[in-house]
Parts: sequence; structure tokens; C-alpha cells
Amino acid sequence: MNIRVGNGYDIHRLVPGRPLILGGQTLEHPGGLGLDGHSDADVLVHAIMDALLGALSLGDIGKYFPPTDPKWKGADSLVLLEQVMGLVRERGWSVVNVDSVVIAERPKLKPHIEAMRAAIAERMGLDPQQVGVKATTNEKLGAEGREEGISCQAVALLTKP
Ligand code: MG
Repeated sequence: MNIRVGNGYDIHRLVPGRPLILGGQTLEHPGGLGLDGHSDADVLVHAIMDALLGALSLGDIGKYFPPTDPKWKGADSLVLLEQVMGLVRERGWSVVNVDSVVIAERPKLKPHIEAMRAAIAERMGLDPQQVGVKATTNEKLGAEGREEGISCQAVALLTKP
């Protein structure tokens, strides 16, 4: 069987005056913080993209969407995800499933998880059942625990018939 696994990781800083976008959803942070970055800084979608690219040893998202390129300023990460899926499909691969965990102290992500799964699945051409999104706090430990940033880890399993 032709299968490949990939992992992805991302972290972005929490700062005032930026939107908080996770899995394509704009959330309210109780401290008025959002994620800083060149694109929309959607760490969840970025980690999933890196997992997909990693599974096929295609490098990382910085190679395809460099933060130095003004073209990607404020980019909707779900659109970038569609482009990464194009790279996967044109090589004859399809996604079995992806799974992810967002590490954020606040806000509570549970009410938004289903919307995130649906949005990601739609852009990937998958069923939401194939897209795992989980959330955890960092028990107030480390950068995520101090609300200096939000990080995400993801894995992707790909198959080629
Ligand atoms: Mg990123």
C-alpha cells in the first residue's frame, strides 16, 4: 500500500489589534488579542498545510508562500490550503485524514471546533469526518500558557491508489 505520513507545527504571537483567526473562523479573544503574521496567521491551517507538504517531502509553506512576498500579505490561509491540496492531487495522492491540536489558553475553542472542521474539510474536498481538530490549554505553562502565542500541531495521512 502506498501511504505517506506528515507532521506540521506552527506558532504565532498574540498581539493587540489583530484578528484571531483559527480554522478560518474569526474568534473573540477575551483579552482583545489576535495572531500576528504576514498572512491571516491561521496557525491551525498552517500546521495542516505543513503536514500535507511534509508527507510528500515537498518542503514547507515558507517555500510556497514566503512571508517576504507582498502577494501573501493578509492572505486567507484557507485559499493557501486549497493550493497545497492542488500540489497533493496533481501528484496523484489523496488525503486519508488529518488530525490536529491547537494549544491555546483562551478563548475556549470547543464551541468553534465543528465550524473549523467543516471549513477545512470543504477546502480540502474532504468529509469533516476526515478532519480532526482538537484543542488544549497549556496549563498556563510556557509561551502558550502565558498567552504570548497560540501554536498548533498536525499530522496528515496520504494514500496513492
Ligand atoms: Mg504560520
